[in-house]
Order: sequence, then C-alpha cells, then structure tokens
Amino acid sequence: MTHDPAFDAADESRPLDHAPPELAQVPVDLDRLRHLVETDLAPTLTAGAVTLDPDIVATYSSDQALFCPAAGAVALVRAACVEDVQATMRFATTHRVPVVPQGARSGISGGANAIPGCLLLSVERMARILSIDPGERTVTVEPGILNQDLKDALREHGLAYPPDPGSVAISSIGGNVATNAGGLCCVKYGVTKDYVRRLEVVLADGTRATLGTGTAKGVAGLDLRGLFVGSEGTLGVIVEVTLRLVPALPPPLTAVATFPDERAAAATVSDFMAAGAQPSMLESLDAVSLRLLNEFGDFGLDDAAGAMLLVQSDGSGNADAALAEVEAFTACAQTNGALDVGLSDDAADSEALVATRRMAQPAYERYAQRHGGGQLLDDICLPRTRMAEFYERLAQVRATSGLTIAVVAHAGDGNIHPSVFFDAGDPADVARAERAFEEIMQLGLELGGTITGEHGVGFLKRAWLARELDEGSKHIHRVVKHALDPLGILNPGKMFAEL
Ligand SMILES: Cc1cc2nc3c(=O)[nH]c(=O)nc-3n(C[C@H](O)[C@H](O)[C@H](O)COP(=O)(O)OP(=O)(O)OC[C@H]3O[C@@H](n4cnc5c(N)ncnc54)[C@H](O)[C@@H]3O)c2cc1C
Repeated sequence: MTHDPAFDAADESRPLDHAPPELAQVPVDLDRLRHLVETDLAPTLTAGAVTLDPDIVATYSSDQALFCPAAGAVALVRAACVEDVQATMRFATTHRVPVVPQGARSGISGGANAIPGCLLLSVERMARILSIDPGERTVTVEPGILNQDLKDALREHGLAYPPDPGSVAISSIGGNVATNAGGLCCVKYGVTKDYVRRLEVVLADGTRATLGTGTAKGVAGLDLRGLFVGSEGTLGVIVEVTLRLVPALPPPLTAVATFPDERAAAATVSDFMAAGAQPSMLESLDAVSLRLLNEFGDFGLDDAAGAMLLVQSDGSGNADAALAEVEAFTACAQTNGALDVGLSDDAADSEALVATRRMAQPAYERYAQRHGGGQLLDDICLPRTRMAEFYERLAQVRATSGLTIAVVAHAGDGNIHPSVFFDAGDPADVARAERAFEEIMQLGLELGGTITGEHGVGFLKRAWLARELDEGSKHIHRVVKHALDPLGILNPGKMFAEL
C-alpha cells in the first residue's frame, strides 16, 4: 500500500489528483460544487435523492476495507431509478466531478470509498426484481438487490442463482457483478461472470447502453458485457442485470476432515480435484482459524488439528454419485494422513458446518478487536497444485513478521484468504503487517497465481495490479479506460491509478 497524498483529508483549494490532464487542470471550488449540486443536480433527480449532510455522507464514504482512505465526498446521491443515474453522470461530466458508484459497500478493497471532491452514487434503493422468466431461466433485477434476497425470492420458483460470496447477505448483485464476486459454491457452479447474460449500464456522459443478450447464446459484436464484469465502477454504472439461473440446487452430502498440517490438507485438495472431482464446496481452515472460531463461539472444532477441510457434493442431483464422491474424498484424505474424517447427510448438520465456515470473518473481527484492531485480509488465487508450497512459504512470512496470520480458503479454487492481524495503534506493527501482506501477494505471483481471486483491486491493490499485468495488458487497460471515460471521472484513484 503506497501512501497517496490525494487521499489525505480533502484540501478544498487543490486541483483533483488521479485524473487525466483535462480534469487535473480544473481547480475545484468545493463550495461552488456543493451549490451546483443543490441548484443544478438535485432538481433533476427523484425528490430526496441528494444529501449534503456531512454525517450521512461520511456514513456512506467507505466500504469494509481497513486502511483505505475515504475522505472528502461532497454529496451522496441515492438513485431511485436509471434516470437519476443518468442525470448524475451528465452533471458529473459537465462539471468534471469524480463519481464513486456504490452497491452495498461490503467490498474489502476500498473500491467504493470516497475520494476528495467526489459524488457518491449509491444504487442501494434500486433493488427490485423486474422480471423472472422461468422458460428462459433468467431473472432481471435492479443492481441494488442483495444477493440473499434474490436467492430467497427465486426459491419459490424452484430456481437458484448459485454465486454465494461469504457476504451473500450484505452484498448487492450490482456490486457482485462489478467485482465479479466468487464464493463457496463457485468450485462447481462458477463465479458471477458465468451467470451474467445482459447488463444495462450508464456511461460517464449519461448514455445508457445494453451489453450482451438475454439469450443463452449471442456473439453479435464484442463481449462488452464481459468487459464490464469486474470493472469495479471504473467504466460505467450498472443499472440493470439479467442473470442466468439454474434449477434449485440439490441437497448436498457433507464431509469434514482434519489433518496434522496445512500441507496435508492442500495435497488432499490437489489430489482430489486432479482425480476429476466436482464438489459443490471445498473449503479449508488452518489451525489459527480453528482456534479463533472456538474462541468466538461454541463450535467444538478440533483446534489441536493443523488444518480442516469441509467438502460438499450434490452429485448433480444423483444421491449415489454424491455418496461416491464424498467417499472418494474420504479415501483421498486418508491417503494424505487425515487425522479424522466424518460424513453427514443431515441437512441441519450440513448447514451448521457451512455456517461455522461463514463465521470465520466475524471470529477474526473479534480477535482483531481484542488485539489492537488491525486485520488485513488478502485474497490471492493459485494453481491448486501450488497450495502446499504456499503454506510452507507462509510459515516463513509468519516467522519473519511475528504476527498472527489466519487462513481460510476456497481451496477447491486455489483461492486463499490469509488475514494478517496487528496492533493498528503501533506504527511498527502496522509496517510489519503491510510487509507481510505484500509478501503474501508476491508469493501469489511467484507461485503462478494472481493478487486477487475475487475481492478486486480497489484502492488496496492498485500498485500490485501494475506489477501483475504485462505492458501489453496495461496498454489495453489504458486505451479502454480512456475511450469510455475520457475525463477520468469514474472511480479515479482506484484500479487504474497506477497503470
Ligand atoms: C464478511 C465478508 C465476506 C466476503 N466474502 C466474499 C467472497 O466470498 N467472495 C467475494 O467475491 N467477495 C467477498 N466479499 C467482498 C464483497 O462482499 C464483494 O466484493 C461484493 O461483490 C461487493 O458488493 P457490494 O454490493 O457490497 O459492492 P460495493 O462494496 O459497494 O462496491 C464494490 C465495487 O463495485 C463497484 N460497484 C458497486 N456497485 C456498482 C454498480 N451498480 N455499478 C458499477 N460499479 C459498482 C464499486 O465502485 C466498487 O468498486 C466479502 C466481504 C465481506 C465483508
């Protein structure tokens, strides 16, 4: 994380940084901007959509990431309809004002954080299901609907939208699309991009565009829908999403295995997947996570174990296939020296185990609160075959930093989430944590992986994006950004800041 003076407390007289030359040359008078928001923008929007109240604006100024600057927003627009979004973008273009699109602000990379002199543009009020098409098996929604609310609504139609980030109850579909969110069942069912059929977006100048088709196939023109998935609010504002659905997911069988160390668990994952397994979930928790979970609640996990794997198989609706797959996992775990393996076909048991896995982050937060408040949550993704090596090398990061590092992983996808804990009030500890966090990303790259599997770049990893991409890719990024956002007003200072 490089220090960026542009994110210090807003300097009302200074030109905006992190923008192309046109914008950077325009000195911004924030009092005048506030006045213009009241006189020129607010009357064009749904009544009550704009607030300049500093307390409310401050409340909306950050996502869940720690240590990402989030100061200086001028106003909050809570759009109620597409026309509100279009009017806001027209105003922003006319006055060259940066805009930060926001969903539910559950992000953990600072992508939805305020920047100095910006308008926050929240779509949380646009949360309706517009239509469900059982014949085509699609749903069309406004972007602000929460993932879990959509899942709940689909259940009565016998349909499912599989992507299930750990934040399923607190993140929006628009945000999921903008970050190409993953989750627990993605190992079998894929990530958000695998379900997006069509997007309605509003571009920097307020133009509305339809990207993709509602049909199962469609190759007319470039894949602009794919371009916008994962674009983190830097290319346009997503105002409507059509998603592919699947029939309600069959109930899974669940198995839990404990291991003497992380290496044995990682080897099990690698061997099991190499044998062609298609689990609907394959998660891992390291010894530190098991300990912190037991400290957090009455979970009864074996925290003498060095690692635990949680696997589910739904056999794609075939109970015999599910049983065969879970038995294959058991055999594989035993071959790799599992301490214990248990099976369950009881729905309540299975849900309790998955709920325990979902409690890892709250358990981490409690631990952080009691140990100086600092937690840096990483998100690298590796080839599964390199995970065992990662854990070996992580031991060195732990030893050098002297910090507690807990690891959960969507192990079946090689997507590893190490959390580095530290005393946020101790500059030396903060520096150690930042170093450990960076060493983990470096390890990710050295082992043939990526700096982010699903949480995105945002502010937190903008410098690291520049390290991961090659020159050709950076060039394409810059050209695309300039073509779609020539004034650099869409979420500046984030993903593109160092490309
Ligand atoms: C406890 C916890 C667990 C998590 N687990 C996972 C996980 O398993 N997998 C995973 O992928 N993520 C996970 N996350 C991260 C986060 O929830 C996801 O990134 C999520 O997709 C963000 O959605 P949001 O609605 O909160 O978006 P926000 O945080 O509001 O925004 C995220 C980014 O998307 C942009 N954006 C949001 N809405 C729009 C829009 N309508 N148009 C254009 N740009 C937009 C923002 O500018 C920002 O850059 C977790 C977070 C928490 C707190």
